[in-house]
Amino acid sequence: MDCPYCGAEMSSLGVNQLQLGRASVLGGIWGNIAAGSLETEVFLCRSCGKLEFFAVRPMEFEEPDRVQVPCPKCGEPHDFDDAKCPFCGERLL
Ligand SMILES: [Zn+2]
Ligand SMILES: [Zn+2]
Repeated sequence: MDCPYCGAEMSSLGVNQLQLGRASVLGGIWGNIAAGSLETEVFLCRSCGKLEFFAVRPMEFEEPDRVQVPCPKCGEPHDFDDAKCPFCGERLL
């Protein structure tokens, strides 16, 4: 790919595991993903030093805080902090 800033050819630095909770230097869409890790491919422009990150599998990041519990009424698993069951509508809180 070409550098969006200077147009020079960018070279891949390979695929990395980003720990998103600590990746505060990346703003934008990355800031919306609160936790988990993401496989990214990093490109470096050797002309101007610009770094670009691309998500390899953006839809598969882990959500370690999402604990699922079974609904007491219908038994379907749902997020533990749901106000009501997304399946049968039972109030949970
Ligand atoms: Zn550049
Ligand atoms: Zn239910």
